[in-house]
Amino acid sequence: MTFSDYAFAHEIMTQIDAQGYTTPTPIQAQALPHVLDGKDVMGLAQTGTGKTAAFVLPMLQRFFVPGERGKLRGLIIAPTRELVEQINESILALGKKTGLRSVTIYGGVNIKGQLTKLRQGVDIIVACPGRLLDHLQQGSVNFKQLEMLVLDEADHMFDMGFLPSIRQILKHVPDRRQTLFFSATMPPDIRKLAHAILKAPVTIEVGYTLAKDSIMHVFFPVNHHLKTDLLFSILKHTETKSVLIFTRTKHRAKGLDEKLRKKGYAAASLQGNLSQNKRQEALDGFRDGKYTIMVATDIAARGIDVSQVSHVINYDLPDTFEAYTHRSGRTGRASRTGDAYSFVASDDSEMAGIIQRKLGSPIEIRKLDNFNYNAQKLGNEAEFARAPRDPRVQPRRDARPPKGSSPKVQQGRSERHPPSPEKQWGTPKTKPSGFRRSWDK
Ligand code: AMP
Repeated sequence: MTFSDYAFAHEIMTQIDAQGYTTPTPIQAQALPHVLDGKDVMGLAQTGTGKTAAFVLPMLQRFFVPGERGKLRGLIIAPTRELVEQINESILALGKKTGLRSVTIYGGVNIKGQLTKLRQGVDIIVACPGRLLDHLQQGSVNFKQLEMLVLDEADHMFDMGFLPSIRQILKHVPDRRQTLFFSATMPPDIRKLAHAILKAPVTIEVGYTLAKDSIMHVFFPVNHHLKTDLLFSILKHTETKSVLIFTRTKHRAKGLDEKLRKKGYAAASLQGNLSQNKRQEALDGFRDGKYTIMVATDIAARGIDVSQVSHVINYDLPDTFEAYTHRSGRTGRASRTGDAYSFVASDDSEMAGIIQRKLGSPIEIRKLDNFNYNAQKLGNEAEFARAPRDPRVQPRRDARPPKGSSPKVQQGRSERHPPSPEKQWGTPKTKPSGFRRSWDK
């Protein structure tokens, strides 16, 4: 089955191609025919399975009727701002040529920008429940014309205490509509909610567990100032082919590249400051095997030929799960197996927890024998010790949990007070875990 079998409009099909999607993922293959058919769907699937496109593509297809713009026909509700932004990015990318307009709505930011966009007319709202309810209560949105409702990561919304808000929102949504309900798990309360809002749903289920693993995800807890030593130790004791190392900044990429070369490794780095010639030389060298290690930032890493990469090492953790999947997806390709290693410092516990939760299975936490985790910081390492974080791209939750929700549950899940790393990541596993995006094969 390919995407052309679904008869998407040409304007949508070109964007599917532009995203590099060739084969539908398992959840897409199962969901698309039913969703395109107008049926309600209950989908058991996690992030990373391609579920976003499974609801975004049919929504774009359905609303892509020339002349019918700004009617607010689609509503997607998700638990976190991060996820809301990710979903909207998919809408913008896949719907680029459709002329359909979407807006993101969540708390913690000024409401004025949202009001302006709403007044200009939108076709799709992607929202966190708390702020959406505010808009409903002050009359800045109405769902009279709504045709499609999507609840994404329903179990997560339930855990965060959003159920009362969702119930309130549902009172404003027409009965005659198509509803899609996605959740990674289906505990009894979520099942009850699903049955209350879905009509004769088709149930589909996809999990990583169904696929054979080809990427092994491993966390290495380490203090910032010991990252380079740990890297050397890993490289010394691990059989690697080509290694792609990600740092947060170009300065760090350059510095690490220099340290690796001083140690005798055939390393190169890609950072924005390189001339086009030097950049090309580094890319060619990595592809041809002249360089076995490439150090890069996320942006600079575009264009790297990934078919040979055996190990991706997150020297610095990325700020979003999306970036993590992009990075780790660079290994384990083309039927090969690959390892995605991440250095996790104490201030990374929030992001590590997000990665763990979204991958859906415990990640192996590995400590090296014979590595001195208690070594003190030396003077010249101080400058390189700590990665500056960009506060603008910190993953955040919808800042306003609804009134009346259980404070106990919220406190437990609050990411302002993340639990200790051990608690959040779970206990170390002896058996490695991972997932394979089987459609990458
Ligand atoms: P999601 O589970 O929706 O967050 O998607 C996970 C990742 O898979 C995203 O980076 C998508 O862009 C990507 N993706 C979605 N559908 C496909 C597809 N058919 N082929 C390749 N990648 C895809």
